[in-house]
Amino acid sequence: MIKVVLNKKISPRIANGHPWIFSNEVNRLEGEPQAGDIVEVFSHDGKFVGKGYINQRSQILVRLLTRNRAEQIDETFFFNRIQNAWNYRQKIGYSENCRLIFGEADLMPALIIDKFNDYLVIQTLSYGMEVWKDAIVRSLQKIFSPKGIYERNDVPVRELEGLEQKKGFLSEPFDTSIIINENGLKFYVDIENGQKTGYFLDQQDNRRAIQHIVKDADVLGCFTYTGTFEIHAAYYGAKSVLGLDISENAVAQATRNAELNNLQNICTFQAMNAFDVLKQWGKDGRQYDVLMLDPPAFTKSREHINKALSGYKEINLRGMKLIKPGGFLVTSSCTNLVQPEMFLDTIYAAAKDAKRTLRQVTFQAQASDHPIIWGIENTNYLKFLIVQVM
Ligand code: SAH
Repeated sequence: MIKVVLNKKISPRIANGHPWIFSNEVNRLEGEPQAGDIVEVFSHDGKFVGKGYINQRSQILVRLLTRNRAEQIDETFFFNRIQNAWNYRQKIGYSENCRLIFGEADLMPALIIDKFNDYLVIQTLSYGMEVWKDAIVRSLQKIFSPKGIYERNDVPVRELEGLEQKKGFLSEPFDTSIIINENGLKFYVDIENGQKTGYFLDQQDNRRAIQHIVKDADVLGCFTYTGTFEIHAAYYGAKSVLGLDISENAVAQATRNAELNNLQNICTFQAMNAFDVLKQWGKDGRQYDVLMLDPPAFTKSREHINKALSGYKEINLRGMKLIKPGGFLVTSSCTNLVQPEMFLDTIYAAAKDAKRTLRQVTFQAQASDHPIIWGIENTNYLKFLIVQVM
């Protein structure tokens, strides 16, 4: 087997359990690997570190799959890892829908699998995982006997690995517009054309957190996508709910979801740019009891963190001006590049500019089916904050 020997002076990150090995951490390679090959990694003084897959085209040269030298990397390995991940999700209370595999957090770097009741959506985001895709699909068939499996590999990061972007069926074809249940509501999931894997499961626990504050409230939700937060607000007793998204397609999906739950009289949607609307409606003096913001990641690269922070500050500052004294702001950030403390500092800065005092109701992360592994920073990515705006 090909050997990868690490430099002497590297950060303790890998020793502390992080599965990524960057090229500049490697002293030498013994052998001539092909992309996706399984290699053994050793410390500079010859101690076994772990086994994983290699790709010389990627900045992350090796992603470790195991620290146990005796463990074989074969189909059984993937079957067992998926079974363990499923057992864990069930243990913490998920049954119908969940992120079944959350990459590094499930010891399967660069693999994402979402379970939407009887359907599975998969992303293999590295060369090494792509190699095992068929084995993974066979394992899923054995464990779940699903009605369908679909690949949503239409993501640009695949190109950094030398992989093409693609999507399509990995099982017999099926109708890709399905319905899931969440917190007592129903939602369409568009597996084929929806954003990411079709639906944002990562907010599924957080959506319950708005239950009490929206009762009898006039609610404005920005960045609504499938309308999930807004439809929850209507279900939990809001007086009126308006959801906005820049995409006409999102507004159509959200409207369809409101109808599916017979909440279309309370909950409506409009295609608008949230940045413009928040500015204009602030000037117009509009006021809401609850304002919800769930924007997309404003940056994907470390160099542009400041741009992202100024985006968060702007929408939250403008948003606070639309909130009645004593009303609530529900605000999220989904990029791991903005750390929780940084996010809170930004909201605090916005409050100071808006001359409002904040009383924290709750501060949470993503749903627990996307586990946070301590020491693996990118697994802690979603910030979800509710504050009363005094
Ligand atoms: N709240 C949703 C997820 C939102 S994803 C949920 O719980 O599932 C972010 C959404 O913001 C996308 O649908 C995108 O179309 C929308 N968006 C991006 N820029 C926008 C803008 N400037 N104004 C309004 N919506 C925007």
